[in-house]
Parts: sequence; C-alpha cells; structure tokens
Amino acid sequence: MRQNFVAGNWKMNLTLPEAQALTIELMELLKADLTAARPQVVVCPSFPLLMAVGQLLGDSGNPALGAQNFHQKESGAYTGEVSAKQLQSVGCEYVILGHSERRQQFHEDDTLLAEKLKTALTAGLKPIFCVGETLETREADETFDYIGQQLAAGLFHLSKEEFGGLVIAYEPIWAIGTGRTASSEQAQEVHAFIRAQVAAAYDAATAADTTILYGGSCNAQNARELFSQPDVDGGLIGGASLKSRDFVEIVKSF
Ligand code: PEP
Repeated sequence: MRQNFVAGNWKMNLTLPEAQALTIELMELLKADLTAARPQVVVCPSFPLLMAVGQLLGDSGNPALGAQNFHQKESGAYTGEVSAKQLQSVGCEYVILGHSERRQQFHEDDTLLAEKLKTALTAGLKPIFCVGETLETREADETFDYIGQQLAAGLFHLSKEEFGGLVIAYEPIWAIGTGRTASSEQAQEVHAFIRAQVAAAYDAATAADTTILYGGSCNAQNARELFSQPDVDGGLIGGASLKSRDFVEIVKSF
C-alpha cells in the first residue's frame, strides 16, 4: 500500500536508557501532534534495544518497530547472528535491507540480498529495501543504469504478491551522513525512474501502489520540500532520527 512514511534508522547508537528516553519523548511529541493524516512512522533500533523500545511503542502499529539487519538463514549454527523469525517474535514489523553501509562495509551483494529478502518475507517482515549510487557513479552520469541494475538484481525476482508488502528507499550514498542532500529535483527524477522500473517489471497499478522513500541528510529543514515531490512518499532518516524534535518535525512535513 502506498502511504506517507517516515522511518528512523538509529544505526549503532544509543544505550538502553538513552533509547528508552528517546522513545518516550517521541511518543509524547507524536501524541501532541496527533492528526488523522499522520504518516506511518517506524523506528529501527539496534538488536539489544528492540524489545524495550517495542514495549514503549505499544501495539498500535504506528509507530511500528523495525530492525536494521538479520541473517539470511532461517535458523541454525550461526553464532552471533539474529534471524528474521526472532525479530518478528519480538515485535518487529519492518526490516532495513540493502543499506549502503551493509553493502559497502559488510560486502552484502545482490545475491545475498535476494536471499535475505525471501527470508524476511517468509518470516512476515516488511523489507525497506535501499538502493542508491556513489558520487562517482553520479558524476559519470550512470545513476539510472546503476539503480536499474540494483532493482533488477535485488528485487525484481519477487512475485507481484511478494513485492506488494515492500518499501523502497532511494539513498544516494554521497548524501548519507554527509550533510549534502539531493535536491528535490534530483530526488524526484530518481523516484520517478524507480516507479517506472516497477511498472515495467510488474504493472502500472503495482508501481502506483509502491511507497518510495528518500534518504540522505534529510532533516527538519529540507523534508517538506523533498516530500512535496510527486514520487517522494517520505524519508528514511539517519542522524536526525536521534533527536526527537527533529524527527517529529520531519514526520509533520507532509
Ligand atoms: C541513512 O543512513 O539511512 C541515512 C539516511 O542517514 P542520514 O540521514 O544521517 O544521512
């Protein structure tokens, strides 16, 4: 279902008391700003914080709980790893997949991501699947080819039914954590391209129904302009999701 959507990726930040304090502040601010049109909000803490944050979020489904990663196998002898089913059992509804930090630092390639995607869907998790180009790729004018390839290899092996529960995030790598945001025109043209690729791989109705987020130094100042673009349905937020007021300002930017 296409919807306005804001997800916070807390990355490897916050201790348990800090995460609890941030969640309580968020809940208070969101309650004060309750409107019928509130977007779907998701927060994605690190593994050890999931249960405590989930308990504070409650079971309304908005805000929902998400994870940042999991192992591609369903269960077994993988010391130190976490399974999709375990995440689902502690209340996770969403999971981030294909984030550039995992692709670059943990060598997650399209084959692995395709496997993880199937495992997530089997466990009943909704993937937030990230794509995005490096600065080098953009400067070589190869952004569309690159993202087209990431979508084809990582996503389009799914059946139309499987694809239905999925959220896509366009995250230009040169904009992540750099303070350098894509202009709203740059974001819109890539989002429109992604939607067109989904239409070509499935059909126009599936494309019209797909939620596509922008991520990369999105903040309380630039969110409104970005979210006003016709194919931008919200944001995947890193740094600014760690500050309750900034995050809630972003949530209100539709
Ligand atoms: C991210 O890592 O998904 C992200 C968008 O980070 P930031 O908002 O800090 O650029």
